Amino acid sequence: MEKTALRSNVLSVLEEKMRLIDTEDGAIHLVGPVRLPVNLYGQTLSFEWYCWLNDEGGTSGYHEMIEKLSTADLAELQQSSVLVYGDFADADDALIRMHSICHTGDIFGSKRCDCGYQLKQSMNRIAEHGAGALFYLAGHEGRGIGLFTKALAYLLQENGFDTVEANEQLGFVDDSRNYSDAVHVLKALRAKPVTLMTNNPKKIEALEAAGLEVTKRQPLWGDVSEYNEHYLQTKIQRSGHLEEKDGIQAVEETKTS
Ligand SMILES: [Zn+2]
Repeated sequence: MEKTALRSNVLSVLEEKMRLIDTEDGAIHLVGPVRLPVNLYGQTLSFEWYCWLNDEGGTSGYHEMIEKLSTADLAELQQSSVLVYGDFADADDALIRMHSICHTGDIFGSKRCDCGYQLKQSMNRIAEHGAGALFYLAGHEGRGIGLFTKALAYLLQENGFDTVEANEQLGFVDDSRNYSDAVHVLKALRAKPVTLMTNNPKKIEALEAAGLEVTKRQPLWGDVSEYNEHYLQTKIQRSGHLEEKDGIQAVEETKTS
């Protein structure tokens, strides 16, 4: 197929909405904001949506990158994105959720985990807080083991293994999630510290190791049912998740507990 050169009017429309973020091993192309009205619990909220693409090993300009899109088979690549709310860059305090993709929980509403609930609840809290961002991380299915393996792990769980053991039995480390790209994007959108919604102190450590300043933490529990009770207990007993339900804590307190 003959390549059609991009027309300059197309490029000029996209140019102001594209940014190149340098990373250790290449660059990230960030596109946005795109206006995204979202239906949440019957109410329409106006988020701004950004999507990014890791251009590992390359730092091509945006228009070379766009030229390559039609042949790059992007549907096969996992792409992450972020929903931003309010004056994210400048608000004194911004609520952040780093949400790992969960095909079964987020899309189907599975009650085997609490992901679907956490996704909706964190969007709701961000809107109520007035400023924040929900990062939706595509490479994180099943704590990084992928969707197919997650199906296998679920079968093991039905036969008595807990979440951590099931992953290990299949040859995976329990948690192989990487936050490096998300932190690069967050820093490009906001320089000030953030409050992180999580029950997981290891996630705070991973984010700080990736260079993010997290000063406060807000727990995010809920939607407990007979189907996910064991899963939630495993998070607390095996993975070190903190059980308390309410309030915002300084991160330093989390570390000493
Ligand atoms: Zn889930």
